[in-house]
Amino acid sequence: MRIAVLSDIHANLPALDAVIADAGDVDAVWHLGDVVGYGPDPDGVVERLQSIGAVGVRGNHDAAACGGSEIDWFNPDARRAMEWTRATIGSATATWLGELPERSTLNGFELVHGSPRKPIWEYVTSSGVALENLALLTAPVCLHGHTHVPVAWVEAGGRVELVRAARGSHLELGGRRALVNPGSVGQPRDGDPDASYAIVDPEAGVVSWRRVAYDVAAVQAAMRAAGLPASLSARLPLGL
Ligand code: ZN
Repeated sequence: MRIAVLSDIHANLPALDAVIADAGDVDAVWHLGDVVGYGPDPDGVVERLQSIGAVGVRGNHDAAACGGSEIDWFNPDARRAMEWTRATIGSATATWLGELPERSTLNGFELVHGSPRKPIWEYVTSSGVALENLALLTAPVCLHGHTHVPVAWVEAGGRVELVRAARGSHLELGGRRALVNPGSVGQPRDGDPDASYAIVDPEAGVVSWRRVAYDVAAVQAAMRAAGLPASLSARLPLGL
C-alpha cells in the first residue's frame, strides 16, 4: 500500500500537480492542512484535492480562510494574503475547508497540522517539544506539518532522535513512536525550492521522502497578477 502524504500546499497548484504526477499510482492521498494561504490558487487546489479524493485535517491558514481569529496571529504579509484568500475563495472551497477536522486517525496513523498537543498551532522544532508530544500519541505514528521542513522525530529509549529527511531518504519505523513531517508542497523552507512530500507504506512501516521540481515562475506570475505580497513570491525559488 502506498499513501501520498502532502502538507502545506498553500494554494500552489503547479506544485501540487507536480507532486501528484510524481507520486503516480497511490492507494490514497492524505493532506495535513494549510491547503490555502500565501499562494494564488486556493479554489484550484481544493478542486484538485477533491477530484483525487484527498482526505486530511485543518491548518491555521485553513481556519483563518473560514473567518477564524487565527488571522490575528499572522505577520503583515501573511495577513494580506489571507485577506485576499478570504475575498477570493468560492463557497464550495469555504465549505470544504470548514469541514476539515482538527485531527484524524487513518490506517493507524494520527494526522494533525501542528502537533498532537495543539493540532492547529504548535510547531515541533525541538526534541523537548517532540518528546512531550510523542507521549500524547493515540497511534504509534503521527503525521504532521506546519514547519515546512521535512524531518522525523523518533522515540529511542526514552529520548528522541531527529531524522533530517534528505531528498530520497527512507525511514523504517520498526514499530517505534514517531512524529513524521513530509515537508511542504507549496512553500518549502529548508533551502530547497522543490516541492516536498512523503510516501508512506503502512504495512512495511516505511516512510520515503521525495522532492519534485515545479514551475516556480508560473506561480510567481500568478501571485503578481493577483497582487499578493512580493516577499511571498520572492521566497519560493529560495526555498525559504
Ligand atoms: Zn503552512
